[in-house]
Amino acid sequence: MAATQTDGRPTSPDAALARLMEGNVRYAEGRMQSQNLPAARDGLAAGQAPFAAVIRCADSRVAPEIVFDQSLGDLFVCGVAGNIPTPEIVASLEYAVAVLGTKLIVVMGHASCGAVGAAMEHRHDSGALPGTLPALIDQIIARCTANADPTAPDALEKAIACNARQGIDELMQGSRIIAEAVEAGSLRVVAGVQDLQSGRFTLVD
Ligand SMILES: [Zn+2]
Repeated sequence: MAATQTDGRPTSPDAALARLMEGNVRYAEGRMQSQNLPAARDGLAAGQAPFAAVIRCADSRVAPEIVFDQSLGDLFVCGVAGNIPTPEIVASLEYAVAVLGTKLIVVMGHASCGAVGAAMEHRHDSGALPGTLPALIDQIIARCTANADPTAPDALEKAIACNARQGIDELMQGSRIIAEAVEAGSLRVVAGVQDLQSGRFTLVD
């Protein structure tokens, strides 16, 4: 990889994405290399320079550091059920981009997402959901499941991919810092879906 700093961190968005995808292949094939040794703590205590940021779902089967085989300090991870860019997550990502120099933002969807599934099931009656869930689920419904045909065999798959892809647009439209960094070529924003069985993470267009 050409664009790397002396400490091995990717210095371009493309190199950052390649680093993540290579790590995902290692994870899928059971060849993980990430090490979180005590000696590494000294450097991390002094500061952080995560090369990529991730919006993950709260789902327990989704763990970016593991799925992309990266170490502590490599990834700036924000999480919420349904991996949607809430205002607080957008603000967190702006910090990563503007202050920490993060080169890549990944909207990380995953197969069998319960939040997207609930949005599909309750697209006409989200108010029936308990507690404060409607506020969250309504956002997913508005994005991708309002007009979905739930009887289609791949309806959930499509909604999950749509929900992740939509995150790119919302980040670009919701944040001048992110949009300008993308325009300047110092940042890329991508989306994808993690398959729970194979462990593979596949980018969506
Ligand atoms: Zn989920």
